[in-house]
Amino acid sequence: MQSNRIFIKETPHHIGKKIVVKGWVRNRRNHGKIIFIDLIDKDDIPLQVVFTPGIKEYYELASKLRGEDVIKIEGLIKERPSGMQNDKIPTGKIELESETIELLNKSRESLPIPIDNDGYDINEELRLKNRYLDLRRQRLHKNIKLRHAILHFIRNYLSDREFLEIETPILTKSTPEGARDYVVPSRLQQGKFYALPQSPQQYKQLLMVAGFERYFQIARCFRDEDTRGDRQPEFTQLDLELSFVEREDVMKLVEDLLIDIVKKITPEKTIQEIPFPRLTHKEVISKYKTENPDLRKDKTNPNLLAFCWITDFPFFEKNKEGEWTFTHNPFSTPIPQHREWLLKKDKINEIITSQYDVVLNGFEIGGGSIRSHTKESLEAVFEILGHNKESIKEKFGHMLDSFTVGAPPHGGIAWGLDRLVAILTNEPNIREVIAFPKTGDARDPMMGSPSEIDKKQLKELGIKTDK
Ligand code: ASP
Repeated sequence: MQSNRIFIKETPHHIGKKIVVKGWVRNRRNHGKIIFIDLIDKDDIPLQVVFTPGIKEYYELASKLRGEDVIKIEGLIKERPSGMQNDKIPTGKIELESETIELLNKSRESLPIPIDNDGYDINEELRLKNRYLDLRRQRLHKNIKLRHAILHFIRNYLSDREFLEIETPILTKSTPEGARDYVVPSRLQQGKFYALPQSPQQYKQLLMVAGFERYFQIARCFRDEDTRGDRQPEFTQLDLELSFVEREDVMKLVEDLLIDIVKKITPEKTIQEIPFPRLTHKEVISKYKTENPDLRKDKTNPNLLAFCWITDFPFFEKNKEGEWTFTHNPFSTPIPQHREWLLKKDKINEIITSQYDVVLNGFEIGGGSIRSHTKESLEAVFEILGHNKESIKEKFGHMLDSFTVGAPPHGGIAWGLDRLVAILTNEPNIREVIAFPKTGDARDPMMGSPSEIDKKQLKELGIKTDK
């Protein structure tokens, strides 16, 4: 596959040997007749390459190299003269004496954005327009690699504990997660629309009905919200669900997983308090005036992580119109002592939901609950929310029906993975840990999306637009 090419990180094991490396030129320095370049590949470790005026053709090529040219070099790995060694990098004791060089692709003279710095000061539109280049900067390489390490760890951790990773549909039906849906027109059923999932909530519950008992998914979720701070129209959740569990079981699993991620992937970080402190919604509001308190004792320390759990939220609250709405998730069940109240639609304002949120350094990074698993319970929720029997049947008939064929008690949680990764990489913004994020107003300046579509496409879909 790679023929004889080796990665630069392997070069220190090849002293005295002839090797082939491929990668990008990071900078060129001419010292009299000798030319030095730093070559990097996917691991961002610079290899010092030395060119001497031996073969004219190669030497001339080397003298014209500039940053981001893509080259292949064959040569001899040698130990650097003592005094020229650099202990700070893994390749600091060696250099490559070039014998042949091949230019695989020339980079343009001036790059649209610099990539030899952290990039924070560059205009975001420009960064996102040139994202393939922006992503080449070392800081973003590091973030994306750390993100991968976390996903890899989670997949192994949960698979080892008998969870199955199961994909759920992207083309689906509107579900009430509290935000506006992204919709997709149907060509075959004109005038009808799919909705992109705000979360896999209903599908994961249906997987519990289907008897899988332990599900997870690294799931893409879509919410068409107005620009609200650091939100993305599409984001990634670690979504999981288990059967035959109570609140404590899910909280324990999640807490253990979070602790292990920190220990294994970001060992430089310290968790302020284990077990994570727990606060009720009442306590947190009266003490901190927010549902997402930042409990760090020292906020100047970038390596301090203060996790906490918030529980005992009210299930329902009144909206501006004086109607009942849910505070978190309509599919939740109340805490056991209040389940009777829900069924009787009694003391609605006092019903406490089984919801648990996990907060890290002032950000909600996850939330979940134990769910309704009987028809009566879910029906009661939607009745309180003002739906009549027909509309409940129309919108959630599949859930209600599924609960009549042996639905086990179940519960779960979802985390915002982008936020967790941003905190663990000390990034102020989730856009720094997503390979191809959108702007604050939901555009992708590189692809130019959203965009208009052909008249022909519109016609096929049976859609007329005002514009
Ligand atoms: N589906 C919920 C959400 O996206 C999370 C959960 O309760 O599992 O907020």
